[in-house]
Formats: sequence, C-alpha cells, structure tokens
Amino acid sequence: MQEPQTPGERLARVNERILRACARSGRDPSTVSLVAVSKTHEASAVAALAQAGQGLFGESYVQEALPKMESLAGLNLRWHFIGRLQKNKAKYVTGRFELIHSVDSIELAHMLHKKSGALGLIQPVLVQVNLGGESQKAGCSLDDTLPLAEAVAAMGALALRGVMLLPPWDENPEANRGLFAQAERLRQDISARLGMALPELSMGMSHDLEQAVEEGATLVRVGTDLFGSRNT
Ligand SMILES: *Cc1c(COP(=O)(O)O)cnc(C)c1O
Repeated sequence: MQEPQTPGERLARVNERILRACARSGRDPSTVSLVAVSKTHEASAVAALAQAGQGLFGESYVQEALPKMESLAGLNLRWHFIGRLQKNKAKYVTGRFELIHSVDSIELAHMLHKKSGALGLIQPVLVQVNLGGESQKAGCSLDDTLPLAEAVAAMGALALRGVMLLPPWDENPEANRGLFAQAERLRQDISARLGMALPELSMGMSHDLEQAVEEGATLVRVGTDLFGSRNT
C-alpha cells in the first residue's frame, strides 16, 4: 500500500483504523477520541492537520509546547499534556491543557492542585500507571495506583478523569494487548472503589491503536502516522 501523502489523507486513514477497530469490538466510535501527538513538529504541521479537521492535539515537552500553542492560539485548538511532567514544571501546564495524562505521584498531583486552586480552576487529570514494570518509565506502580487515585480524587482543584498507560515499546502491535486489557480492568476497579465515574482510558499509539481501542481506549495518542517520523 502506498504511504498517504497529505495531512488530510493521513488523518482519514487513522480515523478509518479507529472506526474499524470500534466496529470489530462493538464500540460506539463517539467514545474514542484521537489525540494528535505533535511533539517535535512545527506549528505549521499542526495547522495543516487542523485544516484537515483535527481539533485535539497532545504535547510532551513543556518548553516546546507553550510557544507552539501560543502561536496557534487563533485556531482554538484543544491541547492535552501527555509527557513526563517534572514537579517544578507543574505550574506551567495547569490551566493551559484541557487534560493532563501523566500524573504519576501524589507530590506532582499536589503541585498541580495548588496551582489550579490558586488560579481558581479545576484541572482535569489522568493517573499514569506503569504496568510494564520498566523501572525507568514514568507512571506509578500497579500497587500505588489506587492510593494515588484516591489522593487525586480528594484534591478539590483536580478532577480525576481516568487512567493513562504507556506500555513498553514492542514492534509487535499484539504484544501489549494484555496490558491494555489490564488497564481497562484497573480503570473499572478504581472507578468502583472510589464510587465515581472514570470515563477516560488513554492508550494506544500509531502502531497499536487498533489493539488499544479493542481493549477499551477512549483516547488514542497518535504521532508518527499523522505527522511522519519525528524531527529530533
Ligand atoms: C510520542 C508519544 C506518542 C505517539 O507515539 P507514535 O508512535 O508516534 O504514535 C504517544 N504517547 C506518548 C506518551 C508519547 O510520548
């Protein structure tokens, strides 16, 4: 198959893959949102994808994201923060991103809560869990997830919306299906234990978005297949 060339063709192809995965698993496509991961890509590439109809974008690096967002402010795009977040950067993202996917410690949650409270906001967040057990990876351990979710739920200036998973890289898209299923069970379990709806499950990237959607993802984070390989 030929590589799609234009941003519009790339976007259509990714959306088609999501639709087909929904059809295979009996899911309502309106419950799955595409987060276009624009890290390392120029504002002009974001604008081109926005022109093709994409409205939701994800960024990973605070210093890169803020000027890019500023330069695109006229387009009224929606932004999620998906990258590892240092505690001393928490103040820069609070209130600027519709959803922060990467809350992995109570200390970080507290920094976000403090800033959000000072701004008079309620910041939506996900707790990021490290189910692959890679020690250098961001995300709290499975055992720490419920206590973290409980702590976040108790912080009045944060709104806990669900769970985020960034599994170990594996070129086989089926390799992480079990972890995707485990993350969905974890989302349901935390929701039941806390007695609150946790509607969002962020997982799946360019090469394994089908498996993630089939296992319950509501937010898929796709970079390469929308923008091409990353500028470094
Ligand atoms: C870069 C990134 C992605 C996108 O990965 P692709 O393989 O390019 O689709 C998704 N999630 C996170 C957390 C990322 O940092």
